[in-house]
Amino acid sequence: MKAAYYSGNQTFEVQPTDPEPVSSGMVRLKVAYCGVCGTDVHIYHGKMDQRVRLPQVIGHEVSAEIAELGEAVSDWQVGDKVAVRPLQPGLADPSDNGQRHIGKNLRFIGIDTPGGMQTYWNVPAYTLHRLPEQMPLELGALTEPLAVACHDVRLSRLQPGENAVIIGGGPIGVLIALVARHKGANVLLSEPNATRRALCQQLHLPAVDPMTTNLVNAVEAFTNGAMADVVFEVSGVAAGVKVMTELARARGRIVMVAIHSEPKPVDLFRFFWRELQLIGTRVYEPEDFDEAIRLAASAELPLDQLITQISPLEDIQSVFETIDNNPAGMKYLLKC
Ligand SMILES: [Zn+2]
Repeated sequence: MKAAYYSGNQTFEVQPTDPEPVSSGMVRLKVAYCGVCGTDVHIYHGKMDQRVRLPQVIGHEVSAEIAELGEAVSDWQVGDKVAVRPLQPGLADPSDNGQRHIGKNLRFIGIDTPGGMQTYWNVPAYTLHRLPEQMPLELGALTEPLAVACHDVRLSRLQPGENAVIIGGGPIGVLIALVARHKGANVLLSEPNATRRALCQQLHLPAVDPMTTNLVNAVEAFTNGAMADVVFEVSGVAAGVKVMTELARARGRIVMVAIHSEPKPVDLFRFFWRELQLIGTRVYEPEDFDEAIRLAASAELPLDQLITQISPLEDIQSVFETIDNNPAGMKYLLKC
């Protein structure tokens, strides 16, 4: 088998290794595809070196077939097609309030522990979700990011007929737009990159350029003055945070999807003035994976159009360099 080790300094090394023994409660997966996440690119940039133990295999957006079962694993068989919900909740903490998916002792598989960019990958059986037999495994690798979008839309309490504005048209922003539209919402995206806007157009998702268009005016026109019931902040940039409070109508919900590692100015007056609500969202719960798999299997979303490139695992170094050079790309998959 082969494994791609991130060894720091923007370098991956693909090396032959031996599969790890499968301990009790674990399964060995034969990885089909592993998607490259924004988080993986952060790791590649050395921004998470304190969390990653070098050299480490990373990656968490996996579709796979079960290759071997550890002891005490029932309900699964060798050959089953699966997606992995890469969360290891750890010990419950009183402050968790029962929310194990964001618990204090949560470990994220593929960041805090070895990930899926390798031929064989051992994971706890409780992380598995069954993929339908007929689903192409390329699409199965989109389950994890799609589950993020399902979680974000669910926590936004979005209703059919509502107006939703998504600030940021990267993979997660576009997936949120697709899920929100599927729920019956009217969806408008804000995205400065022309290539990404062109993809939105191809997906029949209206998208405006916030660099050349006044976004407040655009939302006003799009909603006939009603403004947004829900605003998803997915851009992670200060301009997105600055404008988000201007786009929501009275009692509108603002959903914080992006990871803002630095504090940024927020117009708190607008929360008072228009009785706005701020909703934080992070990762997913099992039901979001179920919903993502149901949506992907039903072919109701044009997910295949989000796959920019599929490359062999051996090409991992050039794939990460390509992503760096082409921020307009969407999903890059590694064939493991
Ligand atoms: Zn991801």
